[in-house]
Amino acid sequence: MRDLHTHSTYSDGKASPEEMVCAAIAKGLSEIGLSDHSYTFFDESYCMKKEKIGAYKAELAALKKKYEGQISVLCGVEQDAYSTESTAGFDYVIGSAHYLKVGGEYFPLDEAEKDFVALCEKGFQGDYYALAEEYFALVAGFAERADVSVVGHFDLITKFNEGGKLFDEGDPRYLAAAKAAIDRLLQAGKIFEINTGAVARGYRTAPYPAPALLAYIKEKGGKTMLASDAHTPDKVAFGFDKF
Ligand SMILES: [Zn+2]
Ligand SMILES: [Zn+2]
Repeated sequence: MRDLHTHSTYSDGKASPEEMVCAAIAKGLSEIGLSDHSYTFFDESYCMKKEKIGAYKAELAALKKKYEGQISVLCGVEQDAYSTESTAGFDYVIGSAHYLKVGGEYFPLDEAEKDFVALCEKGFQGDYYALAEEYFALVAGFAERADVSVVGHFDLITKFNEGGKLFDEGDPRYLAAAKAAIDRLLQAGKIFEINTGAVARGYRTAPYPAPALLAYIKEKGGKTMLASDAHTPDKVAFGFDKF
């Protein structure tokens, strides 16, 4: 078993890379990948500092050696759709969209419910389906990026929508936008995460992508990969047995 979506104090995680690696060993994983957030110039609050990228790679290289024979350690990056940083020198790249750019401003999608609602009001006149169309078009853009192999938390915009609180995930407009993105990404051979992070943090009862979209991916023969998006050691491989 492997978990390739985890964070450390190099970005917004709460533990060192080594603590995350040790947690993975304790859980019996055969492989662990750190995937700290790529540098985003418009929001430095949660991402890797530009000057720390080299240290991150060096620390992971040292851990790879230190734990050889016990666990395979990979040095990944979670590349935001709007990040302009190079992905060279990482073992793998997860492509994730965490913002929507509206009128020259970057709005975070998953930081707080009030921000998400404000984005919809300000950028889409309260039309969540228009927001979804914009979001999924952005995510589908990873199909054109050869460096990205995995699509992170595909339907992140459902984070605050448990029980259909804000919009209907069964709406034809919503499903059409999501499935069009899935089609493009599958054609490009991308792997979809089954991301248990929002379940671990109590926002969602099912991992991303939501069951209907996951069923569509599987029906089309798409590849999936369990990922915890853990920000603390105790959440490494969270829910893998269940999901
Ligand atoms: Zn993410
Ligand atoms: Zn993440």
